[in-house]
Amino acid sequence: MPSVLWILFDGGGDRPAGGKTPFHAAFKPTIDYLTANGSCGILDPIAPGVRPGSDTAHLALFGYDPFKYYTGRGAFEALGADVALKPGDVAFRTNLATVDENGVVIDRRAGRYIAPEEAKAVEDLMKKIGEELGRKYGVEVVYKSTVEHRGVLVLRGAVSHRVSDTDPHKVGAKIARAEPLENSKEAALTAEVVNELSRRFTEAAAGLEINKARRLQGRLPINAILLRGGGYMPQIEPIRERYNIRAAAIAGVALIRGVARAVGMDIYTAKGLGGTKDDVFDEAVKLAVELMSRYDVVFLHVKGTDSTSHDGDFNEKVSVIERLDKALAPYLDALLKNYVVVTSDHATPVGVREHTGEPVPVMLYGPDVVVDDVAKFSELTCWRGALGRIRGIDIIPILGSYLGLSEKFGE
Ligand code: ZN
Ligand code: ZN
Repeated sequence: MPSVLWILFDGGGDRPAGGKTPFHAAFKPTIDYLTANGSCGILDPIAPGVRPGSDTAHLALFGYDPFKYYTGRGAFEALGADVALKPGDVAFRTNLATVDENGVVIDRRAGRYIAPEEAKAVEDLMKKIGEELGRKYGVEVVYKSTVEHRGVLVLRGAVSHRVSDTDPHKVGAKIARAEPLENSKEAALTAEVVNELSRRFTEAAAGLEINKARRLQGRLPINAILLRGGGYMPQIEPIRERYNIRAAAIAGVALIRGVARAVGMDIYTAKGLGGTKDDVFDEAVKLAVELMSRYDVVFLHVKGTDSTSHDGDFNEKVSVIERLDKALAPYLDALLKNYVVVTSDHATPVGVREHTGEPVPVMLYGPDVVVDDVAKFSELTCWRGALGRIRGIDIIPILGSYLGLSEKFGE
């Protein structure tokens, strides 16, 4: 049984500058060989003109309408950080920060570098505060530190994600009070819990040993926790049940891992895949090809094309594409017996440095796929291909049909 390798260049799509795009300029003989022997098209990740976030775009690409299933970034981020969420749990993204004696934020990242033992001390303190709040409000509190100053906070109980951020999103402003964004008991309770947690954290942080040590080293203390992006864990029918597809995702970025996990994909990581522009793809591609014997669809997420786009760096974006292609080359023979999809989750033009709403190129190679006359994977060529113009949410059903896994609609 053939299976699918799906390569996704995050923010890979671009606008032609000087007649070229990074996909067009990149030397990528393996992807272009598959392109020359497959079908091409253009893809609206969500819908024409919609500027997607990576989270909403990935939901759509995995076959789930983001207008129905997107419930705020926090829940997906928490899933990506390996916090086991239950439907209804509310999750926030958090920053450890530094405030002055008046509660005014002087660094939203507490100097950014947080040592492992410091993260542990913060987790211990949050556990203690969480237990106290749990007894008082009947709400379970789980905090997990992730990368550097970042973390996730999960509330479980009669809570709502409809509360405002405590993160003022700028320095020189006070920690904001969480306010309920809807008239419900749950939102009122959540705001109260969040505000008390925030206050207690700052009070208790003054006495933390790690902060005494940080002061001696001339570093900023960790004395505030800023919450943003509250979301709740939606009820999602797993991809295996909904589409009869066994799917795996290889990704270094927590948010993408979270979205993949939310739809029931098995999550893998590979050496060299940290979700940065310097990622090395050899191990990730090797793992992907191995997993193809066990899964119907193996999704490989490449973050570097988006990071370099936000930096406005055309050449670096080209380099990420070329490095992925090079890692793919040894497996070309194996891939030729299977299906390969290449696309992006949105355009992030290097000239704009933000996500934009135009379609991105998409390529589908496979034994049963029509070979059109597009021979190069790029924005400038793929629109002429046999796939035409499709939406992100169409990909999984198209693959399900080629793999013989989809159910007939009607008699
Ligand atoms: Zn993205
Ligand atoms: Zn981006």
